[in-house]
Amino acid sequence: MKDDYRHQGLRRRLVDLLRTKGISDGAVLQAIGKVPRHGFIDDTAFLDLAYQDIAFPILCGQTISQPYTVAFQTQLLEIAPGMKVLEIGTGSGYQTAVLCELGCKVFTVERHKPLYLQTKERLKGMGYRFSAYYGDGFEGLPKEAPFDRILVTCGAPWIPVALEGQLKVGGSLVIPVGEGEEQRMFKLERKADGAMAKVDHGAFRFVPMLQDKAK
Ligand code: SAH
Repeated sequence: MKDDYRHQGLRRRLVDLLRTKGISDGAVLQAIGKVPRHGFIDDTAFLDLAYQDIAFPILCGQTISQPYTVAFQTQLLEIAPGMKVLEIGTGSGYQTAVLCELGCKVFTVERHKPLYLQTKERLKGMGYRFSAYYGDGFEGLPKEAPFDRILVTCGAPWIPVALEGQLKVGGSLVIPVGEGEEQRMFKLERKADGAMAKVDHGAFRFVPMLQDKAK
């Protein structure tokens, strides 16, 4: 994959745009500045638009999230290098790559097999190290739990109990919740006494979290 000065320039402009839209975490902006988003878009007709702040169609009727949404969710996670992070909804792998750039140990779960297969290879080809699973995000990833952070990148109808249960004390879960057109972005934190604190961070739009069995 070619990543020339033109792509790099477009990426710097995207980072500037995200800053003006309110993303202030320097590490998150730096990570976005490193990931070649044009490498995550299948349809070459869209290549020139790769660095605009918009979502794009990918395989299986899914989407690569809008950069602002990726930046917003990542900023909410307050990542420190070395953290164990579970992502639900691998999709294109763009968010996975951003998490890798932040130096965390990434575990990512995808429900659509073609996407799981395509993205695993794509990210490996780009040199990223992570663990990818074909599975159901409602169940989380019990064999690797507990996690410092859990990020859901599809619209969940409710907060899956399994995900709450796989958080470390002091850990947090960022999840868009809602069954209609719009979801509310919640951040939940597991307190030392086991209680969960929940804060609403506003309205976003995601593809739905699938509740049916494996495809
Ligand atoms: N993080 C992705 C966003 C992709 S869209 C990116 O940066 O491109 C959300 C993804 O969640 C889709 O790929 C969809 O197939 C996946 N998904 C939906 N329901 C799921 C479930 N129950 N478990 C795991 N992944 C799911």
